[in-house]
Amino acid sequence: MHATLPMLEVSSFPPIRRARLETLQINVGYRCNQSCVHCHVNAGPKRPEVMNRETAEQVIAFMHESGVKVLDITGGAPELNPNFRYLATSARDAGVDVIDRCNLTILSEPGQEDLAGFLAENRVEVTASMPCYLEENVERQRGKGVYARSLAGLAKLNDAGYGRPDSGLVLNLVYNPQGPSLPPPQVPLEADYRAELGRRGIVFNRLLTLANMPVGRFGSTLVSKGQFAQYMTLLRNAHQDENLDTVMCRSLVSVDWQGYLYDCDFNQMLELPLRVNGSPRVHVTGITGGNLEGGDIVVREHCFGCTAGQGSSCSGALR
Ligand code: SF4
Ligand code: SF4
Repeated sequence: MHATLPMLEVSSFPPIRRARLETLQINVGYRCNQSCVHCHVNAGPKRPEVMNRETAEQVIAFMHESGVKVLDITGGAPELNPNFRYLATSARDAGVDVIDRCNLTILSEPGQEDLAGFLAENRVEVTASMPCYLEENVERQRGKGVYARSLAGLAKLNDAGYGRPDSGLVLNLVYNPQGPSLPPPQVPLEADYRAELGRRGIVFNRLLTLANMPVGRFGSTLVSKGQFAQYMTLLRNAHQDENLDTVMCRSLVSVDWQGYLYDCDFNQMLELPLRVNGSPRVHVTGITGGNLEGGDIVVREHCFGCTAGQGSSCSGALR
């Protein structure tokens, strides 16, 4: 795989600082039952990185000390981590909202038969990858057979109450472009998804549009196809200063499977740790969230992926 950090180091992205910490995003490991071409994590079935119980307990202690409102669990396929349910229930017991970044096919993997019930019982918010409502586009990005399994996963979640009016069980879908282009406007695309998936009996709450970041497998593919520089020019030219106030790293911190902190999951994949007082990297056991406020965020050229056009974050378009 091509490393993209060397091409992102020289950057004109403006300096930004942290605000109050609200969301703790934990990447519990890079193992996944899929190997999607756009994956910024380079996740797959053979990745050995898995957060162990000791680190999971340290993360929960950090969560308590930091007073965050949201625990956002990602991977890989986070549900494959043996500590996923411990993390989710510990946070819910503490009154913290939990988001599961779910790839939908995990719901039909052996051993996950009760996953939808567990998520519903614990009122975990599900944010599910669904990069198109058309079979051909989903399978080009995510692999053969994934479309039918994704619809089956959505149906299971709907059966458990997700996306249903008045259930309070939130099911959001995530769109990302097929190739090196910016996402289309979020609101009309959401209406298209609602109509197309509605024909198949599927309901959901919101569609979140995300830009592809020039890191991991997607970044490497751009390099292989000779499209990296062109994509970076597209992102830079579409930069909007007003998005700087709401980029997710201002209020979110990302933790890796070993408990080290990053300003976001993209920086984690680029191995650009969060810096505090010049230390090369910071572990969850060495700091509390309150100490992060006001700190410099580590930015590089890929950050234009967050500020281009309507903006992009784990919660979808910024405006
Ligand atoms: S994009 Fe998501 S589902 Fe696909 S390989 Fe990466 S982590 Fe797994
Ligand atoms: S890539 Fe990460 S550090 Fe850069 S602006 Fe986006 S969220 Fe912030």
